[in-house]
Amino acid sequence: MSVYSQTAEDLAESWDKHHISTIFPSDVRHTDLKKYLEKLKGLGVKVEQVGFSNASREIYQVEWGTGPLKVMMWSQMHGDEPTATSSLIDMFAFLQTHKDKNWVKKLGETMTIRAVPMLNPDGQELYQRRNLQGIDINRDAVDLKTPEARLLKMLRDNWSPAIGFNLHNQQSLTTVGPTRRQASISFLVVFGDAAKTTNEGHERNKRVASAMVTALQKFIPGHIGRYGDEWAPTAFGDNFSAWGTPTILIETGALYGKDEMYLVKMNFIAFLTALNSIATGSEKTQDPSIYVNLPENTSGGLVDLIFRSATIVKTGEMTQMMVGDIAAVAERRRASFLNSTKIRGVGDMRNLTGLEEYDASSFYVAQRFGRTKSGEMAELLFYKKDRVIDWTSTELEKQFPPDAVFSAGKWAKGEKLVPRRRP
Ligand SMILES: [Zn+2]
Repeated sequence: MSVYSQTAEDLAESWDKHHISTIFPSDVRHTDLKKYLEKLKGLGVKVEQVGFSNASREIYQVEWGTGPLKVMMWSQMHGDEPTATSSLIDMFAFLQTHKDKNWVKKLGETMTIRAVPMLNPDGQELYQRRNLQGIDINRDAVDLKTPEARLLKMLRDNWSPAIGFNLHNQQSLTTVGPTRRQASISFLVVFGDAAKTTNEGHERNKRVASAMVTALQKFIPGHIGRYGDEWAPTAFGDNFSAWGTPTILIETGALYGKDEMYLVKMNFIAFLTALNSIATGSEKTQDPSIYVNLPENTSGGLVDLIFRSATIVKTGEMTQMMVGDIAAVAERRRASFLNSTKIRGVGDMRNLTGLEEYDASSFYVAQRFGRTKSGEMAELLFYKKDRVIDWTSTELEKQFPPDAVFSAGKWAKGEKLVPRRRP
């Protein structure tokens, strides 16, 4: 261990003690970002306004370090993919306030880091993937119809960075290979062409990715995946790599039982592990197969909730009942917004796993509004099966108060009455 090495545990502790992001990333608006950036400026970090969105929201670039190696990072080109924006803020705040530490000093002497946090502030405001024109900026690297894409390309072309970090969020139900474990972080060392030609920068990035995987495995073992590497001819990561800036994609998912801040911390650990491994040269001894052998991202097997073996009642009718499972998924929303959970499937859901599962075999389940079917909101009324209920009642909830109610993604009544089961 040299004076420059930093363990993942050291970095986690540094984040715990020193992070300046205080809001859940999904709730960070452009105005909050500006406050964060003012704090960075107050610490002496260089923050520059470099462009505008369609709605004239300022887009900023943060710069730190004076070394010859050029590192470029950008986050939130998809408006509803916010985690890394907060991680970048915390990273710069930490680097600046610890610039006299041996390893941080070396980092700053080795490299110059430029980062664009929140490339798509208009999409962020609407909490949507696309920009205000309705264009996916990450499919606009060639056409350049959006001011945000033009800006990103210009920042790269004028500077020619040696490495890029493209920072996104993936679906919370993405899983690691054939397991039903959430892919909380996925990596992709992006190729620069469809033939998957490798080069020195690409090989280095595989080792850097391996360093990040090794660090994160101490915190989220089994929850790290590899993002699909099909060539995307209009995406930025692929084109950055083609233009001479070999790029690493980091996709943040979710982790059941942990909040968004935990994933901000995971990104913070990943970024500083990557940068430090480059600065010290320790990446050269990393085994690229750690990255290469990560299980690929998979989807379709996991849902947020399953209520197993419920006796599903069709309200308004006395006889129509069936025993089946109800699977539901939560929509991507800001943390402060009401959760919206929709039914994904009804019937035999044995092929799905829920992050949360309930044994509803001793309950009648009725839908609060409409029918219990795919696409409807999961607003569910639970009645113990020993009760006699007139399902044709027009004031069902009033006349026959349910024993438990599941509403807006959580138990509104009778929590713990319907037993949890092990998925
Ligand atoms: Zn994205």
